[in-house]
Amino acid sequence: DDTLDTAWAVRWAELAQSSVAENRIALMELDREIGDGDHGDNLDRGFTAVTAKLADATPDSPAAVFKLIATTLMSTVGGAAGPLYGTAFLRAATAAGQGPLDAGGVAAMLTAAVEGVQARGKATTGDKTMVDALAPAAAAARSVAEVGGSARAALKAAAEAAEEGARATEPLVARKGRASYLGDRSAGHRDPGAQSSALVLRAAADAAA
Ligand code: ADP
Ligand code: MG
Ligand code: MG
Repeated sequence: DDTLDTAWAVRWAELAQSSVAENRIALMELDREIGDGDHGDNLDRGFTAVTAKLADATPDSPAAVFKLIATTLMSTVGGAAGPLYGTAFLRAATAAGQGPLDAGGVAAMLTAAVEGVQARGKATTGDKTMVDALAPAAAAARSVAEVGGSARAALKAAAEAAEEGARATEPLVARKGRASYLGDRSAGHRDPGAQSSALVLRAAADAAA
């Protein structure tokens, strides 16, 4: 069975927590370059709260895990990223439905997540935000689903596309969020939210491997 179950979603949350913790300083440094330097702390606090809550919860579907992640991130991360990450996971929960996920489910979940981020934050691709990691990730997952690939393959393609998307934010001038206050001086630095989004999607792929 190639579908992604509740155990996968819990593993995703755990791997996201450890990856964000390991990269806390690096994310802080990226945010210090073009923001206020708190992105690593914000997300580390959020995902640590997520794993603490999961320890006392018995979610019965990936969607239930995503919902717990969403509400926890919304109440603990703060800043610009908290509501955006929260919206992403809330939309993912709705799109995931009740059962395990196949490749089409992965594509639908990621597409709903990025659409939610865009509805909330009004950023489009190229604005140097987390959308620049999430939008290509969702597109990559859709491509895998269209040719009948597996859920794991969809996640792997999504993680790779997100990493490439995060790298590609480096030359961009920010048009949304705190970094946009810097104007042209925001160019030459990777967007911290795009980088953290790539880490979170890599965790999703690793959890399925
Ligand atoms: P804050 O800027 O409030 O300190 P964080 O540092 O936690 O919040 O998060 C900053 C990240 O949030 C940015 O790197 C960017 O990826 C993302 N972001 C900010 N504004 C938007 C927006 N309008 N749409 C999408 N993402 C955004
Ligand atoms: Mg910040
Ligand atoms: Mg801040």
